[in-house]
Amino acid sequence: MSHPTAAVSAPTRVAAYAAPSPKAPLERTTVPRRPVGEHDVLIEIKYSGICHSDIHQARDGWGEGIFPMVPGHEIAGIVTATGAGVTKFAVGDRVGVGCFVDSCGECANCVQGQDQFCERGATGTYNALGTDGEPTYGGYSTHIVVAESHTLRIPDGIALDVAAPLLCAGITLYSPLKRWGAGPGKKVAIVGLGGLGHMGVKIAAALGAEVTVLSQTLRKKADGLELGAAYFHATNDPATFTELAGTFDLIVSTVSAPLDLGAYLGLLKVEGALVNVGAPEEPVSLNLFSVIGGNKTLAGSMIGGIPQTQEMLDFCAAHGLGAEIELIGADQINEAYGRVEASDVRYRFVIDASTI
Ligand code: NAP
Ligand code: ZN
Repeated sequence: MSHPTAAVSAPTRVAAYAAPSPKAPLERTTVPRRPVGEHDVLIEIKYSGICHSDIHQARDGWGEGIFPMVPGHEIAGIVTATGAGVTKFAVGDRVGVGCFVDSCGECANCVQGQDQFCERGATGTYNALGTDGEPTYGGYSTHIVVAESHTLRIPDGIALDVAAPLLCAGITLYSPLKRWGAGPGKKVAIVGLGGLGHMGVKIAAALGAEVTVLSQTLRKKADGLELGAAYFHATNDPATFTELAGTFDLIVSTVSAPLDLGAYLGLLKVEGALVNVGAPEEPVSLNLFSVIGGNKTLAGSMIGGIPQTQEMLDFCAAHGLGAEIELIGADQINEAYGRVEASDVRYRFVIDASTI
């Protein structure tokens, strides 16, 4: 492996799309990138997925946002320079960056591969402060500098544009599906057929589970079945909740808005689990009798650690899985945000970074 011997420095400012303030449309700007350190790689970003979390944060729906904000934590690109101490990557490698770009590597959670829960705090890819105290800026940009420890290898079998969404949507579904035993003989329901949900259908089917989509309406039914679901039901039809009562071993909810969790818990078998990954801006209330009856589990799950993210990418390559994407130019980001909010995404918007 070779790396440039001359001092490697990133462009000090790079083009990006940012929300200048909460709720303002995103617009073209430039942001600083740090010089390439000894253990850093410089990545030329090729594609960046639009996650609903980007929208929650750019609209400051979760609060305490840092503005101007450059969202984007589904990054796929090519290594264009490496620091002198980099051993895992070389110029030209196909790489990805997900939801966090730093963690201590030493605490119990990091050592166990749960580095998203670093005890000293994992540094978000954007809308966070790095250990240098400077804000981090995400993937709606042309370049990013990231420690090699937080850079993922994208296997040759997956095209970079359909790989980008795996860095958040892919791992966010892969992790709970693995943990809760999705596989042959298991009936798994995915609630919400958006960016996360459609990857959930693909991955759960590839793991061998019998997959059902629970979507607000039947308008995405043909797609859901094509993606690997065996069944598809509309949740705006009250009959769905009586017909499917007691059916599922595992339900994963990807819904971005508050949901009547009690109604979905009623669809679980005895000792079934409902795992929530959706992150709505408002709290939900729950009658706890809906978990007591049937010894049910209500759980959460947040993305996945770096080792499991690499495992997920390798799994997706081995099974020929990538996201279903709509490739857009950077000038379409604001329009795309509106369509995601209207549940009109099929099934992930991906920004062509060459248009930034
Ligand atoms: P998305 O593409 O917008 O998909 C969400 C889907 O939820 C929609 O397509 C829609 O599916 C359904 N939905 C939306 N509003 C609904 C409502 N009022 N009632 C019922 N269903 C509704 O969003 P995403 O990018 O997949 O993200 C989903 C959520 O997960 C967001 O809140 C995001 O912040 C969060 N997230 C969490 C993690 C984590 O680590 N836990 C990681 C990434 C994202 P149908 O049209 O099929 O009904
Ligand atoms: Zn995300």
